[in-house]
Amino acid sequence: MTTHRLFTSKALAGEVAVITGGRSGIGYAIAHDFLACGADVVIASRSAEGLARAEARLADETGRSCGMVPCDVRDEAGVERLYDYVAARHGGATIVVNNAAANFRTPAERMTSRAFDVVVGTDLFGTFHVTRAFVPAMLEAGRGVILNITLPRPEAGFPGFAHCGAAKAAIISLTATWAYEWGRRGVRVNAIAPGPVPTDGVAANMLHGEGAAGFEQITSNIPVGRLGTPADIAAAAVFLCSPAAGWITGQNLVVDGGVYLNGGNAPLMR
Ligand code: NAP
Repeated sequence: MTTHRLFTSKALAGEVAVITGGRSGIGYAIAHDFLACGADVVIASRSAEGLARAEARLADETGRSCGMVPCDVRDEAGVERLYDYVAARHGGATIVVNNAAANFRTPAERMTSRAFDVVVGTDLFGTFHVTRAFVPAMLEAGRGVILNITLPRPEAGFPGFAHCGAAKAAIISLTATWAYEWGRRGVRVNAIAPGPVPTDGVAANMLHGEGAAGFEQITSNIPVGRLGTPADIAAAAVFLCSPAAGWITGQNLVVDGGVYLNGGNAPLMR
């Protein structure tokens, strides 16, 4: 696991972070760096086996243990059980990272309600359910950070992924609304919009089965000249969730090597 090691081991000391989708890809890298920066971490996703593997690897790589809870973020009762686990083990969360997402390529005219429901249910409703479960205690404590994971410029379209683009655009709106409503009560809400990061999930679901080779083809559209890494996103997450970002709220921070400058997602999806 590559880590930037730019932050001290105390950058997130005293924080308790819940990371959905923390067993793999970007969520795993965020869990890794949060542990390395002193936070207590609970990872949550559907696969108990995947969580157990991630927990063991995180312990090996960081020397710290984390909590894990099998949880489908579409299921409000399951999210309540996640909240109860965190409350019992840590007395509550101070950071929530809404990273869990589903995605798969479907031409818009063939997109079924079920396909739309799976992706919007996971990305948008999952973000809503988890935030709704954890934020009342944060507001009560007068302290907390919500970090949503979105997409650069979804309003410019996401060809082949209408469900995901719609969900991420809505999450950006929620990010701003929540930041307005909760800012004076001590809760900051931001988002990170990652550019192309060749995680296993994305390679499997988004590139017509081309895998990492498909990502290489889009590198020419990236001004910085390389693909992103999970660690690039994790570094931004550490910053936004740390006291160093105490005056930043309501933002959708694009971390994409400059892809945004080239006109959003459409050129990547050709
Ligand atoms: P990934 O490796 O496929 O991770 C997705 C994670 O979400 C998995 O750990 C998965 O675990 C979990 N998950 C899926 N459905 C879930 C559900 N219903 N309930 C709970 N957990 C669920 O993908 P990634 O590339 O790291 O993506 C992470 C985030 O970055 C996502 O929000 C994605 O939209 C965003 N993003 C990624 C890129 C990129 O290029 N990689 C670009 C823009 C945005 P289980 O299977 O165990 O549930």
